Amino acid sequence: MPATYRALADTFVTESGIVVVHCSDPRYQPYCQEFLQKGLGVKHYSLIAVPGGAHFLTLSEYLPKFSWAGWRWTKFLFELQKVTRVILIAHDDCRWYQDLRFGFRPRPMREHQIEDLQAVAREIRTRFAGVRPELYYAKMDAGQVTFEAL
Ligand SMILES: [Zn+2]
Repeated sequence: MPATYRALADTFVTESGIVVVHCSDPRYQPYCQEFLQKGLGVKHYSLIAVPGGAHFLTLSEYLPKFSWAGWRWTKFLFELQKVTRVILIAHDDCRWYQDLRFGFRPRPMREHQIEDLQAVAREIRTRFAGVRPELYYAKMDAGQVTFEAL
């Protein structure tokens, strides 16, 4: 590998007005990028990729410091640009959701994740007027990754 790597820069890009929140799971990252670029036509976006994706924005009672930091990052991105789209992606077999630290789950993980995405979407609409979050659920199966609109 050369000591210096150079990429061609698109000098016309400033802020995109698009914020994406998804899990940092390396199994899904390349497919999330492909879905955003080829599926939704989104080339440039602000990204928050953390374990569990948007889950950290739901933890205001259980882990309030997580929630505070998450909403602070989100607010920062909204202050930086006029955000028109927020894209939230959850995925199947998420190891963050499987972690026992979140206690007993009386419902299937997918249902839990979708409820969390919907709760975050409601909160985003409350905090940031005029933004309509888009929700997707990714699943890897039989050599394909599908992104279902919710
Ligand atoms: Zn995950």
